[in-house]
Amino acid sequence: MESALATSNAGESKRFRVLLPLPLKPYDYRGGADIAPGDVVRVPLGRRHAIGVAWEIADPTAPDAAPAAKLKDIAAKLETPPLGRAHRRFIDWVAAYTLAPAGAVLRMTLSVPAALEPPALKVGYVAGGAPPARLTAARTKVVALSSDGVPRAKADLAAQAGVSEAVVQGLIVQGALVAVPLPADRGAVSAIDPTRPGPTLTAAQASAVAALTADVEAGRFHATLLEGVTGSGKTEVYFEAVAAALKRGRQCLVLVPEIALTAQWLDRFEARFGARPAEWHSELKASQRRRTWRAVAEGRATVVVGARSALFLPFADLGLIVVDEEQDGSYKQEDGIAYHARDMAVVRASLCDIPVVLVSATPSLETVANAEAGRYARLDLPARHGGATLPAVVSIDMRNERLPATRWISMPLAAALTETVAAGEQSMLFLNRRGYAPLTLCRTCGHRLACPNCSTWLVDHRLLSRLQCHHCGFTMPMPHACPSCQATESLAACGPGVERLADEVAALVPAARIAIVASDTVDSPSKVQALIEQIEQRAIDVIVGTQIVAKGHHFPLLTLVGVIDADLGLGGGDLRAAERTYQMLVQVAGRAGRAEHPGRVLVQTYDPTHPVIQALLAGDRAQFLKSEAVERERFHLPPFGRLAAVVVSSADERAAAASARALGQAAPRDIAGVRVLGPAPAPLALLRGRHRFRLLLMAERGIKVQPVLGAWLARHTPPARVRVQVDVDPYSFL
Ligand code: ADP
Ligand code: ZN
Repeated sequence: MESALATSNAGESKRFRVLLPLPLKPYDYRGGADIAPGDVVRVPLGRRHAIGVAWEIADPTAPDAAPAAKLKDIAAKLETPPLGRAHRRFIDWVAAYTLAPAGAVLRMTLSVPAALEPPALKVGYVAGGAPPARLTAARTKVVALSSDGVPRAKADLAAQAGVSEAVVQGLIVQGALVAVPLPADRGAVSAIDPTRPGPTLTAAQASAVAALTADVEAGRFHATLLEGVTGSGKTEVYFEAVAAALKRGRQCLVLVPEIALTAQWLDRFEARFGARPAEWHSELKASQRRRTWRAVAEGRATVVVGARSALFLPFADLGLIVVDEEQDGSYKQEDGIAYHARDMAVVRASLCDIPVVLVSATPSLETVANAEAGRYARLDLPARHGGATLPAVVSIDMRNERLPATRWISMPLAAALTETVAAGEQSMLFLNRRGYAPLTLCRTCGHRLACPNCSTWLVDHRLLSRLQCHHCGFTMPMPHACPSCQATESLAACGPGVERLADEVAALVPAARIAIVASDTVDSPSKVQALIEQIEQRAIDVIVGTQIVAKGHHFPLLTLVGVIDADLGLGGGDLRAAERTYQMLVQVAGRAGRAEHPGRVLVQTYDPTHPVIQALLAGDRAQFLKSEAVERERFHLPPFGRLAAVVVSSADERAAAASARALGQAAPRDIAGVRVLGPAPAPLALLRGRHRFRLLLMAERGIKVQPVLGAWLARHTPPARVRVQVDVDPYSFL
């Protein structure tokens, strides 16, 4: 009997490779006829259970296949929509590209474990059955409330009746309240309406829309760069592509830099489509996260707007991906799995066979190269909508200004500020440095206050009355005496941060209402929103901010932009420094004078002949890109060559150094077109208490770096206390 049953089961059951959202290799399990690849399943793992995905049918004859007798059964199939084949291939692709375990990538998709189970049926209570034994005042309130027959959860009953939950519980125990199921928390079907009319498009906008709509209707992979200055109508254009995909009943994903995801964007979407899209970002509450994940998987959320992690959501039927501000550095994730969401968006689109649109006023060199090579189509929106003019950009040569060491605002900029405030218009000063001062120094002994965990200076944050490390988060109060020579009243702030600059503005224009805007003061979409409202309501005259103010908001009354230190960032050893500075400056400049008020931009620089500054003044982006491309090509740097960084770190400096040396010795030497630099101590040689060494693999564009890296790293197994992190296409070189 037993054995007959076992045989007949074996006939129906199959061997599945099950991928768990853990950095492990997949294991084989036996699954019944009800299991298919893509199903979300619960499996035994050691003495516990784990949730994973039946990845594919496994080959029992594979060399590493577990013997059939040792196979365990899949315990259950969850009521979650299966992960489609394209999504599974996408996860495998990202894993192979980033050299991460596929399970760790799957974890970015199964990021909301609570969403994997259908929402629990909740119970509500209505009056009925036995009348309460003893009618206290509190009980009377509950009975009166619940006699309307509307079922309410226990907590809601108590809250609405103004009594404690114990009172309600007492009535339940007595049978004076009876349980009934509450309607399931499914969320409404999206009310986003793609048939509502958009604005009347200009000829250039209309032809861009026609091209994108044709791609959406063809339902094929096609990558397009949508380029145009700030205000040229790129958002309106991609909204039309979204409408086209929705009309075909397919889902859309719009990726935006997290900080740009504001109510302003959402309001605009709502004005166009009659309802808000689903949002996906770090500020969501657990319940929103669960509901949205589920709605995306079930196809009820038709449009998702989100930060980079939204790319891994389990769309039921994705039909279009838009990457807004595609040049934005925040698309690159450096911790954990090092991936670039813009690049992986193109991969996802290709595996799903759908169009992808990369949108930017200042596209990255990578994307421009792809467009020039014909891999991406290119759509250009030439002018600002409504003929609004770009602001005039003027440089201020700081070498002639002779400012005292504690002031950073030049005479011409100070005059412009005063004028603008007096005219009732708004100004923005841009300085990419948080806090009050980037360095604190002892005037007696020269000691500099440094982070104990990192090779960096501590930043003085006066608003918080603390010194802070911007890398590890270490903080301490400002000491009264120099920690080195004990001199008192000797510590001096060196250099400006936005807080100090705000003090200078207050001294220059006492009447000005000033807002300091930096990632530590405005650190969530809701705070960005509050700030935008203040600016729109004219409650602020001068914004003093870091790069986060550069992200695309429309401030019609903003007519002056001052760039305090345009040279900052041009000096470092980072290959994208000039490009990023250029993009940031163009974006900041794009804030000025967007409506009927013309704007002006004053750029303070000690190096007015630098090509980046020259290109900015001339508004000559083509020239900038050309000179930048020539430089990169000469040194075989991306996009003309490939890079992969290997960072070896440990709390134990010797162990890190030994592993770094061993990896250096094991580096590939005989592959044409590949070289390895290092190991060298990282610029941030100490980070969060870990000592760090870097190696850099440089390869010609035609070479696949992953097999080279894989073979190389396999030649050295570091001890457990040493971590080896790989970053293919690195953006940070610290
Ligand atoms: P971008 O995304 O390139 O910065 P937007 O799409 O945000 O440009 O357009 C800038 C402003 O101009 C927005 O307020 C937008 O609604 C408006 N606009 C753009 N195109 C049109 C159009 N064809 N008709 C009416 N308003 C438009
Ligand atoms: Zn630190």
